[in-house]
Amino acid sequence: MNAYDELMAFQRQTEALAQVAGRLGWDQETVMPEGAAGQRAEEIGALESVLHARRTDPRIAGWLAAAVAPDAVGEAQLRQIRRSFVRTSKVPARLAEEIARVTSLAQGIWASARAREDVAGFLPTLAQVVALKREEGAALAEGGDPYDALVDDYEPGMTGAEIAAMFAAMRPRLVALRAKVLAAGAPKGVVGRFDSEAQMALSRELATVFGYDWDRGRIDLAVHPFSSGSGHDVRITTRVSEVDPFNCFYSTIHEVGHAAYEQGVEASYALTPIGQGASMGVHESQSRSYENQLGRSRAFTGWLFGRMREVFGDFGIPDAEGFYRAVNRVHAGYIRTEADEVHYNLHVMMRFDLERALIKGDLDVADLEAAWNDRFRADFGVAVDRPSNGMLQDVHWSCGLFGYFPTYTLGNVYAGCLVKALRAKVPGLDGQMARGDVGAATAWMRDRLQRHGARYLPREVVAQACGFEPSEAPLLDYLEAKFGEIYAL
Ligand code: ZN
Repeated sequence: MNAYDELMAFQRQTEALAQVAGRLGWDQETVMPEGAAGQRAEEIGALESVLHARRTDPRIAGWLAAAVAPDAVGEAQLRQIRRSFVRTSKVPARLAEEIARVTSLAQGIWASARAREDVAGFLPTLAQVVALKREEGAALAEGGDPYDALVDDYEPGMTGAEIAAMFAAMRPRLVALRAKVLAAGAPKGVVGRFDSEAQMALSRELATVFGYDWDRGRIDLAVHPFSSGSGHDVRITTRVSEVDPFNCFYSTIHEVGHAAYEQGVEASYALTPIGQGASMGVHESQSRSYENQLGRSRAFTGWLFGRMREVFGDFGIPDAEGFYRAVNRVHAGYIRTEADEVHYNLHVMMRFDLERALIKGDLDVADLEAAWNDRFRADFGVAVDRPSNGMLQDVHWSCGLFGYFPTYTLGNVYAGCLVKALRAKVPGLDGQMARGDVGAATAWMRDRLQRHGARYLPREVVAQACGFEPSEAPLLDYLEAKFGEIYAL
């Protein structure tokens, strides 16, 4: 075997083991018996150490030096392997272990601080995590910007400055839209109790409508919905609230967006470095376009209204137009994960500015709560009432996930571009969606974007799919048009 084939064979086993690790995580969040938690931690730890040893195996350097890619796809494979190998070799083992140790403890400390509304109880731990991530960023950046190096983990090729410029263009328009929409008053929501079994049955139907392949997937319940796996085993989870069926339906559609991306990747890429989504941002572009631009469109909600009436009878909303408004209800709130389309990106932008300042050393952890609360009041028009509704609400920073937040908004931005391009190519889309048919939309996504997996860089694959360079403009135009019309602004 030549160096390329040896490297790819070695890598394939690593990818397979990584899938196993992911499946253990899925099991833990869905069906694992409670008493197994301690043993599971040890099982996952053992597998992680095997994976770490494989990812840092010294033979990789030799293979990479000698490997000649047979074609363009092979070059993309080598790019991915080199990227991961270079990254792991830049971070000293001592630092990597310390980050793993501190962040695993930090999550428990964060959870209990949040439950007790105790910012002071979390700050020393957060300070430790920030210091370690600054050190890691500096090691990765080798003289460059440490925050950019951290962003690169989740969104290869993107920089803090590019994101900051994009967000600066978005923020004033979103703040203005939020203020106008809230002043216009909230539409009516749904009332009544919605049977859990019936919600799950309709969830399965929605997953099928959006192209989820049940032969390579399954749906289960989880506290925080997620999707998991690549290739021939891609699972989704959802949650059920008897008073809020939209939570279940739109969580399902969101996760189907992620899962359809993984299921849509070219079959021959399975268990290779390019056999999965290109980045967190591109992944979120799929879940968000399925959930929001398609799933919350007037056309599709018209069909969903009819199905919900058939399944649940009367739920206090007389017609499809009222239903469309209920599904797209804008409401003030503190919590990012519960935010509507108008508010969501404002939550992300403030986290981006704050975490970038923390990593740059421009903001001290001791001043974070005041900075958070000032910014929240400026962008959302209300004061934070308690830390669990403020800087203690998200788990990310305790996990060391600095550079991750902006990918949520990048996903929305990419979704805005992709759906704009999609609508130009599929002119009858609304007529199809009004009949509950999103087949042409999902086929376009698969063909233009999903099938490539991580073969191209994130921005590159989005630009290719759209036929234009991605920018924030299509998303902002979409939001202003949609909510301007709903709220008669
Ligand atoms: Zn998502």
